[in-house]
Amino acid sequence: MNPAAILLLATTLGAQAPDQLLLKDYRPRSIYRIPVTRVEKARFPVVDMHSHAYAETDEQAAAWAATMDRSGIERTVVLVTGGGADFDAAVKRYGKFPRHFELWCGIDFTGSGRPGFAEGVVAELRRCRAAGAKGVGEVTDKGGGLAGNAGGMHLDDPRMDPILEACADLGLPINVHVGEDQWMYEPADASNDGLMNAFTWKIADSPAILRHDQVLATLDRAVARHPRTTFIACHLANCCQDLAQLAALLDRHANLYADIGARFAETAPVPRAAAQFIGRYQDRLLYGTDMGMDAAMYQITFRILESEDEHFYEVEQFGYHWPLYGFGLEPGILRKLYRDNALALMKRVARN
Ligand SMILES: [Zn+2]
Repeated sequence: MNPAAILLLATTLGAQAPDQLLLKDYRPRSIYRIPVTRVEKARFPVVDMHSHAYAETDEQAAAWAATMDRSGIERTVVLVTGGGADFDAAVKRYGKFPRHFELWCGIDFTGSGRPGFAEGVVAELRRCRAAGAKGVGEVTDKGGGLAGNAGGMHLDDPRMDPILEACADLGLPINVHVGEDQWMYEPADASNDGLMNAFTWKIADSPAILRHDQVLATLDRAVARHPRTTFIACHLANCCQDLAQLAALLDRHANLYADIGARFAETAPVPRAAAQFIGRYQDRLLYGTDMGMDAAMYQITFRILESEDEHFYEVEQFGYHWPLYGFGLEPGILRKLYRDNALALMKRVARN
């Protein structure tokens, strides 16, 4: 029988031969009889510093606010990417829940090649601030430039200088996404440790695309050049596989913070290294989610941060095949991560 026929037969029989099983279909269930912690509500009131305009209707926004109340999320920062029109639409939807949602405005980079680009962006930041924006972001450069994969203008480009200075003048922190995690640069082959997710978010191997250390260096230079501006490197600056890289940046720049949004699955396989890092930078890290608005999603993040649970899977949430481990963060650190650092950051921005 040829392999295709064997596969067909196996599928027909409703069982999959182990040697035909694909990694993308792998759904192991932990068989350990060890503690399973359900954390339905965060231990301290939470400021979620990294979310997006997920609600598509007013009803969904109301349901989200109710989920936040039940989960202990006091406030959610909605990072509105894109230009002013997107921000205005977000004000309309989320403005009805001023206690729950805080809006940050995006930047429209499409005109970056035209004269007057920076002046236009600064004018728009001013207008959005008057309309309630409390920060800027998420601004993304996955190596091809801030305008996407063709613009080639990176965060340390001189055209960005007046914009980053205006952020300081206007009291707006800026949330920046640089690169992706290292798995996404490695060949998507049998040796890739985070294969299925790495494949989804793969960074093209092209000379026009900066590699991880290069795009990280653009952040490093921009943060150094604008000490009055408060930067947040989101997703732990995509340094999960080598947190020492982010540590070096945080050591160099007092005006840099990092959020942990959407990097739970990349840090939970190494709970001791992750908890050690969080302990060392406990005043500079911010809780964030970036993963929708479900109660179950919040609960997974609480479980990872608060519990000492071992060897549990969340393949549907994260896309990785590997098991996760809780950090068991102590209450003092947890409080800073969940809330106090976010409040301190906003105070710092208002002072500068
Ligand atoms: Zn995001």
